[in-house]
Amino acid sequence: MAIREILVVPNPVLKQVSQPVERVDDELRALMDDMLETMYDAPGIGLAAIQIGVPKRVIVMDLGTAEDRQPRYFVNPEILWASDDTLPYEEGCLSIPEYFDEVDRPSRVKLRYLNYQGEQVEEDADGLFAVCIQHEMDHLEGVLFIDHLSRLKREQAVKKVKKLRAA
Ligand code: ZN
Repeated sequence: MAIREILVVPNPVLKQVSQPVERVDDELRALMDDMLETMYDAPGIGLAAIQIGVPKRVIVMDLGTAEDRQPRYFVNPEILWASDDTLPYEEGCLSIPEYFDEVDRPSRVKLRYLNYQGEQVEEDADGLFAVCIQHEMDHLEGVLFIDHLSRLKREQAVKKVKKLRAA
């Protein structure tokens, strides 16, 4: 496993649309292992492959704790259903360090994806899991959580990151 560099805004790679994975094989599992290690190191709770510059539809997540890790892997995830009711949640992103803001998203979704073994799974998500998977799936379309905010807030976020990087 290796820790990879996480791309930050305004890197244009983050705006790319990621491509479906054809096969869950050892090469892909090695990528997922690297993503997980990179996410733990950051530290964060979710990471999409495009955030380390790989335009594949792959997400890793862990909503457990340092003592009780619960790594999860999502390959080619799809949202089959989303609730009408929404939930505001203060989100952050490893590609937008130290910026947090509230985003409204459907509070419950039904997912379909391939897991680490390449098996197809259907699963319902709510709470933080629903927030996180929708945030990460946005990355696969080149969408960041700040794209859900006003243009002014978006510009402030990017400016803050640039300043942080220059310091
Ligand atoms: Zn993110």
